Formats: sequence, structure tokens, C-alpha cells
Amino acid sequence: MKRIIYILLFVVLLVACAPKTDDTPLYKDPGQPVEARVEDLLSRMSLDEKIGQMVQVDHNSISPYYKFPPSEIVKYSIGSILSGGNSSGYYTLEGWTGLAKSYELEAVKTPLGIPLIFGVDSVHGFGHVNGATIFPHNIGLGATRDAELVRQIGQVTAEEMRAAGIPWNFAPCVAVPQDIRWGRTYEGFSEDTALVSELSTAYIQGFQSMPEGTEPTEGQSLYALATPKHFIGDGGTAWGSIPQYMYHQYMLDQGDTRVDEATLRRLYLPPYQAAVDSGAMSVMVSYSSWNGVKMHAQQYLLTDVLKGELGFQGFVISDYDGIKQVDPDYYQAVVTSINAGVDMNMISDKYQAVIAIMKQAVTNGDIPQERIDDAVRRILRAKFMLGLFENPYGDPSLAATVGSPEHRALARQAVRESLVLLKNEDHALPIDKNVATILVAGINSTGVQAGGWTLDWQGEERDTLEGTTILEGIQEAVGPNTQVLYDNLGEFASFSGKAPLGIAILGEMPYAEGLGDKADLSLYQLDLNVLQALRPKVEQLIVVLLSGRPLVITDQYQSVDAWVAAWLPGSEGEGVSDVLFGDYPFVGKLPYTWPRSNDQLPLNINNAADLTGCDAPLFPYGYGL
Ligand code: BGC
Ligand code: BGC
Repeated sequence: MKRIIYILLFVVLLVACAPKTDDTPLYKDPGQPVEARVEDLLSRMSLDEKIGQMVQVDHNSISPYYKFPPSEIVKYSIGSILSGGNSSGYYTLEGWTGLAKSYELEAVKTPLGIPLIFGVDSVHGFGHVNGATIFPHNIGLGATRDAELVRQIGQVTAEEMRAAGIPWNFAPCVAVPQDIRWGRTYEGFSEDTALVSELSTAYIQGFQSMPEGTEPTEGQSLYALATPKHFIGDGGTAWGSIPQYMYHQYMLDQGDTRVDEATLRRLYLPPYQAAVDSGAMSVMVSYSSWNGVKMHAQQYLLTDVLKGELGFQGFVISDYDGIKQVDPDYYQAVVTSINAGVDMNMISDKYQAVIAIMKQAVTNGDIPQERIDDAVRRILRAKFMLGLFENPYGDPSLAATVGSPEHRALARQAVRESLVLLKNEDHALPIDKNVATILVAGINSTGVQAGGWTLDWQGEERDTLEGTTILEGIQEAVGPNTQVLYDNLGEFASFSGKAPLGIAILGEMPYAEGLGDKADLSLYQLDLNVLQALRPKVEQLIVVLLSGRPLVITDQYQSVDAWVAAWLPGSEGEGVSDVLFGDYPFVGKLPYTWPRSNDQLPLNINNAADLTGCDAPLFPYGYGL
């Protein structure tokens, strides 16, 4: 008996003192180089797990709220989730933080514990959250010509997103729009390639670099992930060139860019080279085509040019269901686009079908195993660089900075710098803060100021976005003896006589993507009515135009004393009044050529440089008083 006890004791001691073999897999060690971690993890993954990494599902279709949390994440090893423009519904920071976290909590339950990456379109601030800082859309930033400002905007946007645990932004749009009839003109900084390159790299650097004073998680080299889009030529499509479109309004969006290769490279490639050089690790493919072939099928451009020639080490994400447009046969569409170089497939629904197709295609030898491995390597590389394996939940301690006074001050500065003064006669501007009466007419809504991609895909006409309207800014700016009256229609029925000053705030109602494609860029009839009603009631009339592009104002601007292009300024309307009342100067310059008539379109620096007289633009590119 004693002997047995001794033997048992001996065995226990042996086990306790045996040298410990560390069975933590290499890929989980943040001290290891990223490439070593990628290879180690890849070698442990099954085909199903690899395919899961290549799939990004819309939150709307994976998890109707009544089925939450989504068991599908574990079942299909899904590597990424997006919230598209319409798949929000949360609106609060807490809502988004909880949503992102519940997905990560599922992902870490997968056998290899690979975190998923959550992506959204924060194209001018974290627009899904009501209370976040909403900056001017890129067209306004193009007018500022201020790269340092744009860098800071990138950084603030990344911080506000990371507060919610969302590290991936489908921005910046580096399109170089050549035709302002396009509904995405405002997403582009400018019609000038060099300016787009300069501002988009500033944005990417600001968005992806560690903010000063922030401790990176061990192994983390990217603060957040930016996505230059849409590769390539999205801003160069020909009017009416859409082979298949969702709505009859789509005339340019998702169309065909009909230019030779030299032109494609000269106009549209430099922003991508600059983005890759400054560390972009994901690029989104364009819905558009190049000379009749969908970009999602362009192996030469995606693989040879982007990944080869430009040296892009990150991953290529499809656009939303973009793969479906490649071929009516879904199997063929998936095979073609993955082989062309798409690494991650953004899918609205039926992701189970795509997963099955991919598996079948690898088994059939239609998609080579090496293509799968290459895609997964690229995706994992970005995930390691983001430090997601160490911390998939972001920085909830940043919650208080979302929409903070400091962040809003930066947005307000951006608004000030974005304003372009087109006309100023008889010293209409700056406005005297002690003027007796100001009649303000027209738009009074943060939603309209913000435009598309704010709270909703198509934006919000109502004044629901937290922030200040231009009218509120005016009311705040004036002295104690000034009376500010507002009538949206400009009728001021109970006001008799003539006020010294009127301000008409005119412009476009929000839109996004092809729903904003439009042949007639004249002012709305509603705005013409406002001008007509207000003009006789005031001595001097100033127009502030809110629009996602230059509009045709040739018949109206003559009868007005001052005209300000304010683009889509976002949540901080006081930035407009700051400049109207002379606290700051006008510094903005036109980022797009301003046409004289609809018939001139498309009109830009590349086709209008030497137009003169009646053929000349109303205001040339770079204009601004
Ligand atoms: C747009 C992209 C966007 C994606 C996800 C697409 O319709 O073209 O710019 O990133 O949706 O919302
Ligand atoms: C999504 C957007 C997407 C659009 C069109 C919408 O339902 O929310 O993100 O861009 O569809 O493709």
C-alpha cells in the first residue's frame, strides 16, 4: 500500500516538474513578425475556414434582430461583416458598440479564434451615429486644398469609429469625377487627379496612424483600416452606358469608362499609387466597367497592375454584390472575379450560396488553391496589423470623444475653409453683425446640410442629425440688436417694408450613388420661388448654396449681391456663419469647373481648358474670391 502511495507521489511530482511545453500557437504571439503569424495561421486553416475569411456579409441579412446573436458566424467561419448604408437602424454609439462587440464575441468562439473585421461607410465622419462629428463631404474638403486639415479629419473619424469597435472604413473615395451629373460627385475631392492624390493620402495617413499619445496594442501597426475606392475609373463613366441598372435614374453610376489605357492610368491611377505608397491595406473595386468589361472581372488591372505593379500588399474587397454583375451565372461570376483578384466578397444576402459555390469551384479546380491562400494571406495580414487578435473590441474608452467639442471644432474649421465665394458686390459680405434685420429663407436642416451617407444611405431631409444649422449659426453670430426672421418659403407675409439684408439658403435634397445621377442641374423650382419671394423684401441678397456639385445658376446669380458655394458642410452650420460675418476670411477654391449651362456637360479641366466666351465655364476650376 505504502509503495503504491510512493509511486503515485512520484508520478505526481514527475508531472508537476516536467518542463512545460508552450502550446500557444505562434500566430497568437504578438511578438512574432506579421508574416510568420500569417503563415502559421494559414497552415492551420481548413478550406471552409479560408473561404469564410473571404466573405463579408451585410449585418442586415446575417442577423435579423430577432435572431441575434448570429450563430452563422461560427457555422460558416465568417471573416467580416458590413453595415451598408441602409443596414443601420442603431443610430446611437451604444447601439453600434454593442452590435460590433456581439459579432466579435461570436468570432472568438471559432476553433482558431480569428477575429472578424467590421466595416462601414464613414465617408464624412461616422455617419451611422447620430451624435458623431459629421464633416463636409469630400467635395468641400477639395475646396479647402488643406491636406493637414484632411489628415486630422481622417484621424478623428478613426477615433470615433474605434470608440464603437469598428476599425474599417470604406473611405476615402478617390474617384476623379469628370462629369458632375454623377450622383457621387460630392464623394470625390476634385476633378483634378493631383489634388485627389494629395488629399486622399492625407486622409489615409490620418486615419491609419496611431494618434499621438495612443499606446498601440502589442503587435499593432495600423490604427484603423482605410479603403481607397472604387478601383478604377468610377468617375469617368459615359452618360447612359449602364448595361444593367437597378433604377432608371442610373445614367453614369456603375457605367462604362471608355478611355484608352494611357488615359485610364493618367487620370485615375495616381491616387491608388499614392494610397498604396502611404500604406493602404484594402482597396474596393468599382461597379463600373472599363471598355465594356466589369472591373470585378479585370484580372489585368486588379492583379497585374494593382497587386503587381503598384505593389499592393493588402486585400481587394468587392463592392456591394458587385460580383453578381460579372455574369448572370452566379458560379461563373464568383469564379471570374475571385480569379481576377477579388479577395473578399461583399454580399448582401445568400452568402451561404456563395460559400458553397467557392467550395465547389476549388474542388473543381476552377479556383486554384493558391488563389485562395493568397487572398486569405492578404486579409489576415491586415487583421494582424490592426492588432485585432489582441484586441478585437476597439477603444470604448474613447466614447466621450464622439461628437466632442474638440472634434466639432475641427469640423467647423473644415466648413469655414470649404466655402467658395463666387460673387460679392457692393460689400454684401462680410455681414455687419449689427444690421437691424436679416430675413433668412430656404433650407434649415442639418440633414440637408449633411447630404447622402448620413444616418441613412440616401441621407435625411429632416433636421434629425445632431448639430447646428446655418440659421442657428446666424442667430448666434448677430449682435443683441439684430432681428433674425426665418421663413422657409421666403414670403415673410407679416413683415412689411424692406429689410437691409436677406439670406437665401438653397440647394439639393440628399441623394447617394446613381439615385443622384441627373441631366438637369438647374436650381429646383422651390428655390426659384424662394428667390422670387425674397428679392423684393430685401436691399441686399446673399445666397448660400448647399449642393453636392456645382449647379446651373447662370440666370439667378446676376440678381443676387453675393453667392457662396457651401457644398455639403455637415453637422457644423456655424462654420458658415463664421465666415459670412467676417470672423474668418473666405479661402476656398473651386474643386470642380462650374458650368454655364446643362448643355456644356460634361465639362472639366481636361476637356474645357481652352473654352472661351459663351462656351467658357461660368467659373473656372480653382476660382474663388
Ligand atoms: C457603394 C460603396 C459602399 C458599399 C457599402 C456600395 O453600394 O458603391 O461605395 O462602400 O455600397 O455600403
Ligand atoms: C445598401 C448600401 C448599398 C446600396 C446599393 C443599399 O441597400 O445599404 O450600402 O450601397 O444598397 O448598392
